[in-house]
Amino acid sequence: MKGASVIVVGAGVTGLSTAWWLARSGVDVLVLDKGIVGWEASGRNGGGASHYHSPLFHEEQRLWPMMDGLLGYATEYRRERVIFATTPHHLANYRRMGEICRGLGYQVDDLDPAQVRSFVPLAGDTCLGGIHLRFGGQANPQRTVQAYAWALRDLGGRVFQHTPALRLIMQGGRVRGVETASGVLDCDHLVMAAGPQAEALLTPIGLRLPLAASRAEMIITEPVALMPVGGADGNGLYGRQTLRGNLAYGGGPHEWLEVDAMGPPRRPSTPILRNLARRVAELLPGAAHLRLIRSWAGVVENTPDGRPVLDRPADPGNLTIATMSGVGFGLSPATGHAVRDLVLEGRCSFADLSKLSLSRFAQTPTDWRELQGWTPTSHEDALAAMAG
Ligand SMILES: Cc1cc2nc3c(=O)[nH]c(=O)nc-3n(C[C@H](O)[C@H](O)[C@H](O)COP(=O)(O)OP(=O)(O)OC[C@H]3O[C@@H](n4cnc5c(N)ncnc54)[C@H](O)[C@@H]3O)c2cc1C
Repeated sequence: MKGASVIVVGAGVTGLSTAWWLARSGVDVLVLDKGIVGWEASGRNGGGASHYHSPLFHEEQRLWPMMDGLLGYATEYRRERVIFATTPHHLANYRRMGEICRGLGYQVDDLDPAQVRSFVPLAGDTCLGGIHLRFGGQANPQRTVQAYAWALRDLGGRVFQHTPALRLIMQGGRVRGVETASGVLDCDHLVMAAGPQAEALLTPIGLRLPLAASRAEMIITEPVALMPVGGADGNGLYGRQTLRGNLAYGGGPHEWLEVDAMGPPRRPSTPILRNLARRVAELLPGAAHLRLIRSWAGVVENTPDGRPVLDRPADPGNLTIATMSGVGFGLSPATGHAVRDLVLEGRCSFADLSKLSLSRFAQTPTDWRELQGWTPTSHEDALAAMAG
């Protein structure tokens, strides 16, 4: 096993997109994963790609429609989304979201209930109206992770699966490499994209990245006829219809966890699945009779303000951190581009990343999780907190 010019720890969408962007620039790049590509949050999420609150939003929107062509493999990206309400409070929130997106230069149409049902035939009489995002969309997370990995391989990049990074090796104030069970892999630059495990790998080298892990779950129904839009959200849920017709829905509550270094628990739980199923039936009465055929849980790392960290700290000078909180799938094409820029040029060429710096947490108290109430919860407590 030999190292590489750039080693990326983590073969989720963040690490793989980064490696692919670097390989496109001719960089010798190696990705390490403790398991297999996309086994954690990256292969288990809702697939949504409409992050209007992120500095990477414009790049996210520019890149997604091109990704199948750029990667050379299908992500099953479908453009546009409908978000609709069953309460006046939600309707007001969605209309406000529409105004923000219009202010950013994107087309959003307000929909009355009949217009919502023309896009989402499973919506019922409880629908009060909604918005139609003429941008954004959703892709298949499993396909996307695989597409990044294959595209990286096509460019000569390497992925070592089942190769945990045990610790970072420092020398002369710089990262020299990564210790693995088979020896040390040397690198000129290291990208930390290990999701919830990033904190544990960075603490020993003196970098404090405050993260709290939470479990999020998804339910999948048997297939139904394809709707005119691939994504229909509301009632606190995010959802996508697969090309086969299955409805895939998730959306809270957060179940706070302690993450162990090599693998957090990711089994779904009956109370949360029941809660998700009830809310899907409320949102989509036409789907209430469908059988659930699959479910899973994934773990999201959360920073104290819920925003990603994308930063190349001054010390050590050859390390870049990319941890995405709950928005990493959709932003991944843009994240990889941004991290490529940070590694090769020291700054992002297309967005201001100052709001995503690590230094914003310099004054965060050590007991921030307790202060925010983000300490481990039972399923029942998580549901009660959401209802409250
Ligand atoms: C149910 C659910 C729904 C979601 N819905 C959406 C959505 O609709 N839209 C959206 O944008 N985001 C969504 N997210 C969030 C999104 O999935 C994550 O932000 C994103 O996948 C993060 O990708 P990542 O590559 O940074 O981290 P991860 O996917 O967590 O990947 C990190 C990788 O690092 C590896 N690793 C960890 N430690 C080590 C080590 N020591 N050595 C080597 N490898 C290591 C892990 O095995 C893993 O493969 C959702 C998440 C969940 C769980």
